[in-house]
Amino acid sequence: MTLTFDASPQILLNVVGKMEAFPVRRIYCVGRNYAEHVREMGGDVARSEPTFFTKDATTIVQSDTEILYPPNTENLHYEVELIVAMGPDGIFGYGVGIDMTRRDLQALAKQTGGPWDRAKNFTQSAPCSAITPAADWDIENKRIVLRKNGDIVQSSSLDNMIWSVPEIIERLSADMDLQPGDLIFTGTPEGVGPVIPGDELEGGVEGLAPIRVRFVG
Ligand code: MN
Repeated sequence: MTLTFDASPQILLNVVGKMEAFPVRRIYCVGRNYAEHVREMGGDVARSEPTFFTKDATTIVQSDTEILYPPNTENLHYEVELIVAMGPDGIFGYGVGIDMTRRDLQALAKQTGGPWDRAKNFTQSAPCSAITPAADWDIENKRIVLRKNGDIVQSSSLDNMIWSVPEIIERLSADMDLQPGDLIFTGTPEGVGPVIPGDELEGGVEGLAPIRVRFVG
């Protein structure tokens, strides 16, 4: 059997320190996982539970590449997040991602009770760093930071996550079919804000490879 046309290529992420690549399957994202971010979005921390949504693997942007400012938004926001990369034996490694969000379309979806796809799951909406193997890193007491044009705009500790990484994996596994190759964006701390063409973002977590992107319009 031949293919009607060429299949889409497998999306890959570099693995730090190894001559191998991580093949991406699905992307799961956690929303509302830092109390200060729930507050800045106008939510009630006491009544709010973290939530899940997804992005396609095809939305991934590798580090040090350009992102074309997307259509149908006047409020494209950054959200820096720790990424957990699942392997055949549990957690394979960790990275840094930026959950790009068309905030105006998200507000519309919240108003109408509609899905978040247009707000979250659009072309080039998932910048991802290279993946550091879990054996080479420890999550304890690590800072997570986002710089916009060199200035720090988001800064927190991974200890501030409402659901820890094991809790996220437990809940996702109970609900979804978590498989090797899946990435989990674990939620963003406070300080989210807009970008415009010409802006540069650098997301970092202590000890992990950074993610750097530049926006063009
Ligand atoms: Mn997010």
